[in-house]
Amino acid sequence: MAKEFDVLIIGGGPAGAMTGIELRRKGYSTCIIDKETFPRPKLCAGLLTQKSIDLLAVHCPGLDPSDFVVEQAQTLDFYFQDKKVNSFTIPVKYYLTERTIFDNLLIQYYLKLGGKLLQQVALKTADIDLKKSTVTAGVDKICYKYLVGADGCNGIVCRAAKIRRHDILCLEGNIPRDPLKEKEFRIYFGLAKMGYGWFFPKKEHYCVGMGGEESGKAISNKTARFFQEVQNRQSAQAGDYGLKGAFAPSGRRLNTGKLPKNTLLVGDAAGFTDPVTGEGIYYAMRSAVLAAGAIDASAKRNKRNVAGRYNKSVRPLRQNIRAARFWKRILYYPPIMKTYIEHMEKHTGFAPFYLERVVATGEISYRNFLWVYFTRVRSKVRRTPPKND
Ligand SMILES: Cc1cc2nc3c(=O)[nH]c(=O)nc-3n(C[C@H](O)[C@H](O)[C@H](O)COP(=O)(O)OP(=O)(O)OC[C@H]3O[C@@H](n4cnc5c(N)ncnc54)[C@H](O)[C@@H]3O)c2cc1C
Repeated sequence: MAKEFDVLIIGGGPAGAMTGIELRRKGYSTCIIDKETFPRPKLCAGLLTQKSIDLLAVHCPGLDPSDFVVEQAQTLDFYFQDKKVNSFTIPVKYYLTERTIFDNLLIQYYLKLGGKLLQQVALKTADIDLKKSTVTAGVDKICYKYLVGADGCNGIVCRAAKIRRHDILCLEGNIPRDPLKEKEFRIYFGLAKMGYGWFFPKKEHYCVGMGGEESGKAISNKTARFFQEVQNRQSAQAGDYGLKGAFAPSGRRLNTGKLPKNTLLVGDAAGFTDPVTGEGIYYAMRSAVLAAGAIDASAKRNKRNVAGRYNKSVRPLRQNIRAARFWKRILYYPPIMKTYIEHMEKHTGFAPFYLERVVATGEISYRNFLWVYFTRVRSKVRRTPPKND
């Protein structure tokens, strides 16, 4: 049976759900197709920054953070290998969520706005006809004016257009948590090449994982060792605790020029992530808002061509990601990382500045954060005296 929608969205994660929410609010007929049934699991540490909470307050009014935040903190502990470097406290919070809860709340929000959702439909490349603007979803043939690929790193839209991807493998598992024990949010540098390990306390478990630019075997071995060390420290029984792998974008730009002009990619499907921190949820939602805006503007002019408009609106996002990639290659280079860590021990103002204004609020971009720090911030922050003084 043939069905017609203004916008067909493939993938119902934060990128797809937010695209649907924005477009429903603007009055477009939308259909989200997902291969899973919501609530569905998604391998993710679930760290949400303040800018994500702010974005949700604007674009999903009424969505109460207490419904999806399971833990929060203002302090982040930095480790270099197994040695604690310092604790950094910032004025805003980091929030932890469970993706099963968070993604389901967003999809329910979309459904309340009257959007259509087809669940448990795993599309294959042969189901998508980008030239004819049709998708075969089981027995249904869906015609669309605009297509949004929000189907993550292993997305089918990229594959249908033969777009080469640059994703990195991350591994993660859940170690049982004693609620009276550690509540610290920890980041471990110096373990993975061009990456880091994390230890985040959720309600009933610690979410422990690692990502980096290494071969699958190397990152798996390193994560298994890291996992074992954490288990020993927490006196948890040995086990793999569901240690699993998933891909995250590296931040390298994808060649989206191969897509038809009525087709856009958002979130992980588009390769949008902060390459330094691996944060992707904010970028998924932000690119979704921009995609919906570009589709609205094109539709109002009766134009199917939306790619140019979208590319223009995501340019600041792309430029920020490109600059972050540049800094990642410098900051994660082992000799520089060591100096940088020493710098963090002496100059305790740098990390909180970066964590608050670049990562948490996004108020300052990667393009000019060092300039802002050295010209406006560094002279004002107190230097900690050397340890032996
Ligand atoms: C281990 C790990 C830890 C992470 N930790 C964090 C973190 O702490 N904070 C953070 O901000 N980011 C984190 N990220 C990144 C974050 O998970 C992603 O950036 C985010 O999920 C992107 O959202 P999305 O909607 O683009 O894609 P996804 O959330 O991946 O959603 C894609 C959807 O598309 C559907 N789909 C895929 N293929 C098909 C198909 N063929 N047919 C139909 N449906 C399909 C999937 O079922 C899924 O629901 C982490 C990533 C990993 C791997």
